[in-house]
Amino acid sequence: MPELPEVEMARRFLESNVVNRRVVSVEVIDDGVLDGMDIMTFQHDLVGRSIVSVARRGKQMFVGLDDGSFLTVHLGMTGELSMDQGDHIPTYTRIVFGFEDGDRLYYSDQRKFGAIGMVGSIGLFVNEHGLGPDALSIDRSDFTKRVSGHRKAIKSVLLDQRVLSGIGNLYADEVLFQVRLHPATRADTISQKKLNELHRQILVVLRRSIKVGSDFAVLPVGYLLKVREPGADCPRGNGKLAATKVGGRTSIFCPACQRLKGS
Ligand SMILES: [Zn+2]
Repeated sequence: MPELPEVEMARRFLESNVVNRRVVSVEVIDDGVLDGMDIMTFQHDLVGRSIVSVARRGKQMFVGLDDGSFLTVHLGMTGELSMDQGDHIPTYTRIVFGFEDGDRLYYSDQRKFGAIGMVGSIGLFVNEHGLGPDALSIDRSDFTKRVSGHRKAIKSVLLDQRVLSGIGNLYADEVLFQVRLHPATRADTISQKKLNELHRQILVVLRRSIKVGSDFAVLPVGYLLKVREPGADCPRGNGKLAATKVGGRTSIFCPACQRLKGS
């Protein structure tokens, strides 16, 4: 499931492939991925428009159009974007965008949890969805303010896209492992020093993953993402990793490195 680093790579892919191109056709093969729009309106709003920019906030992308509006793209669990290579159409293609020169962009999505739509402005979308600041842009004091008041588990707070946007299950487990916090630690009991470390590690982990193209095998030794499964060796050599459910989500952690205070 794509999280901030994977969506940032998709954003860069779009930026280098579709900016400055004009959309001449939109074929909706399955409208299950359209976000509150019918096919006719979607086509009407998009055909004839040129793409001018591609922005991202958390896991949400905004493709800027020359009339000031935005195509909104959320990859959900299995959404993928690819350019026509002249060989075959991806199996789960839901939308085909055609460009002036005959090139095509495919949006494929096996499980259809993705959402493609249109919006007048990024601000409008952010307000409507209550999206918190991007996990790569949030500063330390805003992070503290937004995280420390919650009486919930830190893992659940990190996953709440209204608190900060972009972190999902895998990267939440990674940053908590890096700062040695048990995923079930109540957010309002974490010290300022630990919150500072957490904020710093969010930036380090997300940036590093983007740098390696989110290929976890290439990450340096010491990363949970390289070995993330219960029973695997702790990357610090402190015994074995374990699984636990926090807020309904499976969390992989190291019981030796990430002790729950009071237990
Ligand atoms: Zn450990």
